[in-house]
Amino acid sequence: QEPLLTVRGLHVDYFDRADPVHAVSGVDLTLLRGETLGIVGESGCGKSTLVTAVTRLERPPAVTTAGSVLFHGKDGAPPVDLLTLTDRQLGALRWEKIAVVFQSAMNALNPVLRLGAQFSDVLRRHRGLSKKEALTRAGELLGMVGIPADRLRSYAHELSGGMRQRATIALALACEPDLVVMDEPTTAVDVVMQRQILRQVSRLKRELGFSVIFITHDLSLLIEIADRIAVMYAGKVVETGPARQLYTDPKHPYTEALRGAFPPLHGPRREITGIPGSPPGLRVLPQGCAFHPRCAHRFEPCDRTTPPLLALGAGEAACHLHQTVRGEEDHHARVS
Ligand code: SF4
Ligand code: MG
Repeated sequence: QEPLLTVRGLHVDYFDRADPVHAVSGVDLTLLRGETLGIVGESGCGKSTLVTAVTRLERPPAVTTAGSVLFHGKDGAPPVDLLTLTDRQLGALRWEKIAVVFQSAMNALNPVLRLGAQFSDVLRRHRGLSKKEALTRAGELLGMVGIPADRLRSYAHELSGGMRQRATIALALACEPDLVVMDEPTTAVDVVMQRQILRQVSRLKRELGFSVIFITHDLSLLIEIADRIAVMYAGKVVETGPARQLYTDPKHPYTEALRGAFPPLHGPRREITGIPGSPPGLRVLPQGCAFHPRCAHRFEPCDRTTPPLLALGAGEAACHLHQTVRGEEDHHARVS
């Protein structure tokens, strides 16, 4: 499968005080065309910062200090590095290639414009539609997320939270982007609405063929929607893998702890276990594995050397537990 987005060596720091906060420290990620990649981690792990940097929506004091974000064109066209584009070049990509849905739909929608005006603004600007064509298309887009077209006359505050969030998703799809980034899109709605939105996104993705980066703090939710999951801790990716495998057979102790912290939406109930301690401050990271102060499996190398993210089966993990085993396997392979 072809990649759509390749992130390499991405670093994002917040320069709000003398010591910068290392919000993202050296992330490598690949998103395949047509895939839903879930990014999960506790609040403050850098997942929102990562996607705002990737989509070039970060604002001071956040600064992307290193890395590349290659966006691959279709039919073998050379990739462009989003981090090197001018505002004008970015403006051409936004909506048409990349759309973003944030947690608070209230902020995404303009409170003083009717939905119809907001949809037709985007459609006329980016698609060159006439006012009449734009309104017809806007009605179809709302229909795709189960909102009656007469809601085009409504203001955002006249809609329920769930409807607002679905309208924001419909707006993101207006120009048929290749990539839709969703940052906690269902956090503000109830569980029933959450399920409905996830199902709609999955169906639209199948029908329209876009790729999704879906961010959440709730690992069990990603099982419903993601093809692959990346787990972040303290600004780094610590595990990646096919969604179901990562959930049923986590390799990194942090992934295992996250799984225990969120009950599955389906299947047998498990006891909910919190993760002891709290994430480290990001000005001065713990030495070695950043998770070691909270890890039940820590052993001798953990507070001294940082485990790199290495391939492990169909995924990757950054944990000494696996690297030791791997090292021994390599050793056996070499001596035998
Ligand atoms: Fe735990 Fe060590 Fe693995 Fe870090 S490297 S997750 S401390 S076992
Ligand atoms: Mg966030």
